[in-house]
Amino acid sequence: MSYQDYFRKVTPYVPGEQPKEDDIVKLNTNENPYPPSPKVASALKNVGGAQSRKYPDPTAALLRDALAERYGVRSSQVFVGVGSDDVLGMCFLTFFNSERPILFPEVTYSFYPVWAELFRIPYRTVALREGFRIVPEDYLTENGGVVIANPNAPTGIALSVSEIETIVAGNPDSVVIVDEAYVDFGAVSCQCLLNKYPNLAVVQTFSKSRSMAGMRIGYCIAGEPLIAALQNVKYSYNSYTMNEASILAGKAALEDEAYFVECCKRIAETREWARQEFEKLSFVCTDSKANFLFVSHRSVPAKRIFEALRERKIFVRYFAQPHIDNYLRVTIGTRAEMERLFSALRGILAEA
Ligand SMILES: *Cc1c(COP(=O)(O)O)cnc(C)c1O
Repeated sequence: MSYQDYFRKVTPYVPGEQPKEDDIVKLNTNENPYPPSPKVASALKNVGGAQSRKYPDPTAALLRDALAERYGVRSSQVFVGVGSDDVLGMCFLTFFNSERPILFPEVTYSFYPVWAELFRIPYRTVALREGFRIVPEDYLTENGGVVIANPNAPTGIALSVSEIETIVAGNPDSVVIVDEAYVDFGAVSCQCLLNKYPNLAVVQTFSKSRSMAGMRIGYCIAGEPLIAALQNVKYSYNSYTMNEASILAGKAALEDEAYFVECCKRIAETREWARQEFEKLSFVCTDSKANFLFVSHRSVPAKRIFEALRERKIFVRYFAQPHIDNYLRVTIGTRAEMERLFSALRGILAEA
């Protein structure tokens, strides 16, 4: 035996690449093409010097209270973390401590199986139906927890609140986590179910709809017992996860609701226009409610298109995985970025 045999071995989640060249069109990691609210930059001017000498508030009360006010819940119903990846990881560690397998769709955010492996949580994936549909009744078998991304990734397809309710109501003995990373672009949040179901945890992020992926801010809204349990696990690991700058920046972003609404609206409009452009070029698109489209060409393989776009410095996401290896996930950029994409696609398809 060697010391290496005692290492905890995991196959990590693989994020989309972050190319460093100039003049690229980056549509591969679902970042928002618009900057955050100008209020964020102003708030950050006040960080530095004296403020950073001290530890941040471990409860991040400024941000927690602002979120509670924005969403009409008590502060004790809000847990904040370093991006929703941190929050989701804490949720897995806290809520999924059963011998029974947790359930999530076979095609979904690929971090879920990674956390399950890391924390040694048994899991079972549930096949999607025709057209990548999630059927709520498929999640009513015995389980130790359920995770649903809504809208789902990378398909963008959203469930209605009543479909989510079927899953939450049908699993009163396990926690159901609903990952709403993309909800602001056109789906409906299931936060309205929180008062009725103590086993529901809703997770959201500032990374996509608030253009703040670099600040790493995520949060969970749930009943008080769930939030208290999350806090206990977090304080047993690292009390000071959120830095002062992120706390202030997050609070400032929440103070500019008009900017946020306008930004989401522009992206949804560009998405609907882009969908038509894709269809004109013989792509099929899922009914995405997110800030990306999930597309497949009727005759040219996705991998070939992905590589040809890459040569033209246009980056989209391709997953060499069962069921989705003939699809591309294309983040909605600015109208100008999308025009450049379509002009490249016209060239590629003409040569194919
Ligand atoms: C982007 C994303 C997240 C994580 O985002 P953070 O930047 O960590 O907040 C979580 N879930 C899904 C489905 C995502 O696409």
